[in-house]
Amino acid sequence: MIIRSARFLLTRLLFLAMGLPISRYRKEVEQLWSLSKEVRAESLGQLLARNRPLNSAGSAVGGLEDLRSSLSLSKKQFRNQSTQGREKHGKSGFGRHTAGTTGEPTQITLDRKELARMLAVRDYCFRHHGLKLGQREARLWGRPEVGIKSRLKNFVMNRRVFHPVGPEAKDEVANLLSWKPDYLYGYASLLLEAAQILDGMEMEFDPPKCVVCTAESILPAQKAYISRAFKAPVAEEYGSTEFDVIAFECTEGHRHLVNPWALVENTKDKGCIVTDVSRTSQSLVRYELGDYVHLESSNCTLLGSTEVIHQLEGRSINRFAYLSKDEKFHALEFARAVDRYQSLSGEVFEFTVYQYQYGRFELDTSLPPGKGSLDVSRFVSEYLCDVVGEPVNVVPAGEKTASESFTKKGYFIQAMGPDHEG
Ligand SMILES: [Zn+2]
Repeated sequence: MIIRSARFLLTRLLFLAMGLPISRYRKEVEQLWSLSKEVRAESLGQLLARNRPLNSAGSAVGGLEDLRSSLSLSKKQFRNQSTQGREKHGKSGFGRHTAGTTGEPTQITLDRKELARMLAVRDYCFRHHGLKLGQREARLWGRPEVGIKSRLKNFVMNRRVFHPVGPEAKDEVANLLSWKPDYLYGYASLLLEAAQILDGMEMEFDPPKCVVCTAESILPAQKAYISRAFKAPVAEEYGSTEFDVIAFECTEGHRHLVNPWALVENTKDKGCIVTDVSRTSQSLVRYELGDYVHLESSNCTLLGSTEVIHQLEGRSINRFAYLSKDEKFHALEFARAVDRYQSLSGEVFEFTVYQYQYGRFELDTSLPPGKGSLDVSRFVSEYLCDVVGEPVNVVPAGEKTASESFTKKGYFIQAMGPDHEG
């Protein structure tokens, strides 16, 4: 226990040595969320007046009024803007890079303050679940990277990466639990994979304090399964490379907006757009995230804003399933159908729906369900027929190429081309 706390303190000291005063910013996060909506808005307005970020038209945004009248910023515009910005300032900081869901890379540059704020928001969320940033993290994040840089980073962050897939999967899960992490963090699909392996192992272990799922859509039944397997509560995180954590689940199950400096709006045509009023290295004004979220006011004051993400969908381009050129329904219905199937059958598996042509959907599952792939396809088909009001053809998926299954984000792959998106 002493070693464990000493290790935690070492990480926090390393943060300080790197010029990242996380506790100070976490207190600022707490303070901002304790303010009334009006007072908080005033404080964010002042920050805008000081930072004056540029909007997509290239004009300075000096307050909330300017923000409201600004057009949204596409990823493409952002890339052009950043290139110009770099030429102007030529300053470098902490880089974050994303291949992006569109396949278009985005380069994010952060100075120390900006990185510290991001980490502070994370620390704020973790504390709600009895964790602290810097405690021992077991990360399920694809294959561990090799090389000194990532080893150093993992050392600083007090984390280890595990990969519970392939022939060594069982050993990997055993190693993970023997390491006694304070919490698990990772992709829902990998956590699910690990949970399934653990389920068949009958291993004694000290449960982690929490399991944090990120980056992928997850169903309630899948979450419950992970929670049972690891004997720990599961919290869902919603974030992006550009902003890091945007929303985090409270212990009551709401996904609260948690970054007080990130103003999140939901638009009909551009999906979710986010402004970071604190950012100075780059201007992120009404930035189009490419996800579709549905925000709702709640009465819950446990974490962050009372505004919560009610529905969360993957990329906006994948939002609709098409029956014909003019008939479509929301891809969310697939998730609901499969969730229902899983609750009824007591099984848990991952799934992906592919659409290559009008009116026909291929359903792929990570494991064949007990009653077979045809059974689940029929169930989803009937479920959708009730929802949509006409027959929906759902069939088991054929073999997928590595690139088809690897590049996926979310459970619905619209593969008919961009011109079908309404
Ligand atoms: Zn809540």
